[in-house]
Amino acid sequence: MKKKIYSDYPYKHVTWECTNVCNFSCSYCWPDLHSGTHRWPNEEKTSKLVSYLKNFSDNKIITLDIMGGEPTLWPHLEHFCNSVGSFCKVYFSTNGSRTARYWNNFNAPLNELYFSFHPEQSDPEIFLKNVEITSKKYHVSVYILLHPLYRDICTDLYDKLYESDYPIRAGIKKINGLPMKYSQEEINYMVDKKFDRWQTKNDISFKVYRNGREISLDKFTKLGHNRFKGWTCTFTQNYRYIKYDGTIYGAACGRAGQSPFGNVFENEIKQEPITSVVCDRDSCNCKTDIIMAPKKIINKRLPNVRTL
Ligand code: SF4
Ligand code: SF4
Repeated sequence: MKKKIYSDYPYKHVTWECTNVCNFSCSYCWPDLHSGTHRWPNEEKTSKLVSYLKNFSDNKIITLDIMGGEPTLWPHLEHFCNSVGSFCKVYFSTNGSRTARYWNNFNAPLNELYFSFHPEQSDPEIFLKNVEITSKKYHVSVYILLHPLYRDICTDLYDKLYESDYPIRAGIKKINGLPMKYSQEEINYMVDKKFDRWQTKNDISFKVYRNGREISLDKFTKLGHNRFKGWTCTFTQNYRYIKYDGTIYGAACGRAGQSPFGNVFENEIKQEPITSVVCDRDSCNCKTDIIMAPKKIINKRLPNVRTL
């Protein structure tokens, strides 16, 4: 059967891991994401990154997703968001652990702010307070990562958010990399529990199509449609993933790591043509990889796919 996944995303997109320093060490987190080997770029590196982004934008708007580690630990995050605000729609994800004072003072143009609740480490009261503060000035999305061992904490937090009057989006998310499997009841709970109380529209919107039919990205991943081993995946010129060390890839999965596009912190950036690869990953876990890298099945029988 012919199968195709694509989206109608209208922007260029860059995801940048600004650091791998994190104040949490969740058991399911890849060590690489919180090992603390790379702090933040200095002034010279930051200005090289800004130049790279300007060139890449080619006078078009970029959506820029800043990831960590924990981005809010970077002392210049606010300044950086202000410095690229004229040509980037910026958003970032936080574990919500900074103080209320930090969030009260934070002042930069953001298209959206994501809060991820990590039940092994997060303090629900601090988290809730920070969601309340920021929802008064930003489009806030909250994702509670459902950990079966901390289920009561997760469901209690979801109920509190639901019963609040915060103008937020909220939902429950699967954790990739847990040693235990979710029960069917937990999967149903995750699909069911979500709400959207944004009072204005966020202009980053897109549709995902599976075999020509629109499907929400949330449902797409929760139902496990994000498995593309053996499919052909195309890395487009509109998407770059930049690691904390400056290496530029065509997608977060590292599958394009065989041909990185150079390094933003070096002077010469290698330009590569569009490439297609046969996916060798068990699942496509990054939202942007699903949206930005069109995929289709070409071979009915899987070729010999080697895992990198
Ligand atoms: S908060 Fe995020 S980056 Fe930090 S340890 Fe947990 S999963 Fe990793
Ligand atoms: S995991 Fe990588 S190679 Fe596989 S479908 Fe996703 S983006 Fe493409």
